[in-house]
Amino acid sequence: QLFLHSQPQVDLATNRPFGAEALLRWRLDDGRLVPPDRFIPIAEYSGLIVEIGEWVLRQACAELMRLRAAGHRDFTMSVNVSQVQFRHPRFLDMLRAALDDTGAPPEYIELEITESMAMEEPAALVEKLAQVKRTGVSIAIDDFGTGFSSLSHLQRLQVDRLKIDRAFVTEITGSARGGSIAQMVVQLGRNLGLSVIAEGVEDERQAQILRQLGCPLAQGYLYARPLSPESLLEWLARNRAT
Ligand code: C2E
Ligand code: CA
Ligand code: CA
Repeated sequence: QLFLHSQPQVDLATNRPFGAEALLRWRLDDGRLVPPDRFIPIAEYSGLIVEIGEWVLRQACAELMRLRAAGHRDFTMSVNVSQVQFRHPRFLDMLRAALDDTGAPPEYIELEITESMAMEEPAALVEKLAQVKRTGVSIAIDDFGTGFSSLSHLQRLQVDRLKIDRAFVTEITGSARGGSIAQMVVQLGRNLGLSVIAEGVEDERQAQILRQLGCPLAQGYLYARPLSPESLLEWLARNRAT
């Protein structure tokens, strides 16, 4: 009953796709979908997320390989990693085995960890991220701006990308404060030499402001909803992918 959809990620200046985020779906036998926000916390609590997360990573690697075979050779898959999974003592072995077994090139796999995860147990995390980086995969900090990052800690983490939380993208056009947090994250990324992507971009006005703020990358319903593998291929064909 579990399967993956992928949501395209685009270059804001050209609208060209460069990757996609794998998003887990659960469809009951009666056809109803259970939202990930409901079942993932339970999977985390019960520990099942370790196995589910491994399955997601392998599926995402396999999907990347299918996309590559279809000619999309410069395409990245981003995979969400939960805290319980990341902390598991065998996480690195699991990651290496998934890469080896599927043949997925690590430089085209990105792991998304949340900002709250990124701020825990500083010393242990710095080391673990360094080990993850040595496999060749890259790391993004998801939901950035919602936690209380210590900026000095952030500087010590070997991460590649900050993902501006949807709340701050919505705020760009929806509140008096405007895009102040989005702007701060873009500048922070630039100063630390990190890539920045805005998530939850729903309309052209938001995209336009993000471009003005200097945000290079985006993801959201404006470009595409999370898509089945077949729909992703069709979407890529229509959107002249790399
Ligand atoms: P997330 O990682 O922040 O994922 C982004 C969520 O925003 C996705 O919801 C996506 O469908 C939704 N979204 C994307 N663009 C837009 C937009 O323009 N507007 C709006 N309103 N929403 C947008 P989804 O797929 O329901 O996933 C919810 C959360 O469940 C994810 O949040 C992530 O935390 C978790 N999740 C999903 N798949 C996995 C997985 O494989 N492993 C783990 N550990 N967590 C997952
Ligand atoms: Ca994510
Ligand atoms: Ca997010």
